[in-house]
Amino acid sequence: MSRYWNKIVATLDPYTPGEQPRIQDLVKLNTNEHPYGPSPKVLAAIAAHTNDSLRLYPDPTAAVLRQAIAKRFTLKPEQVFVGNGSDEVLAHVFHALLKQEAPVWFPDITYSFYPVYCGLYQIAHRAIPLDAQFKIRVEDYLPNGAQGTAGGIIFPNPNAPTGCAHVLSDVERIVAANPDIVVVVDEAYVDFGAQTAASLIDQYPNLLVVHTLSKSRSLAGLRVGYALGHPDLIQGLDRVKNSFNSYPLDNLALAGATAAIEDEEYFEQSRQAVIRSRQALVQRLTALGFEVLPSAANFVFARHPAHTGESLATNLRARNILVRHFNKPRIADFLRITIGTDLQSEKLLNALGEILKK
Ligand SMILES: *Cc1c(COP(=O)(O)O)cnc(C)c1O
Repeated sequence: MSRYWNKIVATLDPYTPGEQPRIQDLVKLNTNEHPYGPSPKVLAAIAAHTNDSLRLYPDPTAAVLRQAIAKRFTLKPEQVFVGNGSDEVLAHVFHALLKQEAPVWFPDITYSFYPVYCGLYQIAHRAIPLDAQFKIRVEDYLPNGAQGTAGGIIFPNPNAPTGCAHVLSDVERIVAANPDIVVVVDEAYVDFGAQTAASLIDQYPNLLVVHTLSKSRSLAGLRVGYALGHPDLIQGLDRVKNSFNSYPLDNLALAGATAAIEDEEYFEQSRQAVIRSRQALVQRLTALGFEVLPSAANFVFARHPAHTGESLATNLRARNILVRHFNKPRIADFLRITIGTDLQSEKLLNALGEILKK
């Protein structure tokens, strides 16, 4: 606390990112990074732009990247917004599209950055409890009078940190029932097993779909995310972005991200590899007695009936294995475990086997 801080800074409760320790031989399964590297074409594109052209500012409109993203989703570039990671895209979404008179609605168990943005931008919110199976109940997101009206709705699909997916028809019901407000679907993990709502964008002017290159494209270190939606929504985001930082993506990020979006073949094989490893990990965790929520993401959310989440996480850490543990109501006994390489899974399972025997 400092007397030089303004009132808002003094009240902030910032997001705590998963640790990034630099420890040798660490089995790092705590921040949902992809276990394999990005496409070689991405590395080549970045290398090709590592030259004197770095003296120039990047294209503030990111035209080439937006064109590539639009093409992949059969949309127009005016329906695409890009930012410095989807966290930045989401920040602008809260500021430009969700800061309304009424509270924004999201699940009680969800991406913990959402309430942080609400604090930063002074937006009221209402946390809607997931059901006993940790699923979103569609009915809770339809205007029903009892809870008043929402100023906006946001949820991840698949949800984080549960990994549970919603079918597209459920997402569409929520979007269709709320034509007067923006409904944001945060699809950070969609490529690992859920259906994207991108196909609905031409139909619903209130739908915004947010993606990241950090997870399924193996580019967490490059910081690129994007939003897909009606040109009016994209223009709103552009107005905020151009009032904040005109150049959120540098030359290397633009080149690398464009190459990543265009390399469909590499994308397909690397996401399939993660899905296969997830299926194997779920089976073996279940055999160890874990309850594993159905996952459509590159992580699993699991608890053991005989051990607290806290003690499992601490014991894994002592063996140089990092997983994510949230000390929060309803989910304190769960571990969120990122899908790693086969070798990492083996180390994790061996360690868990020992810990459970003790
Ligand atoms: C990882 C994640 C993000 C942020 O991704 P970046 O593009 O790396 O900022 C956004 N939403 C959810 C649900 C995530 O899990």
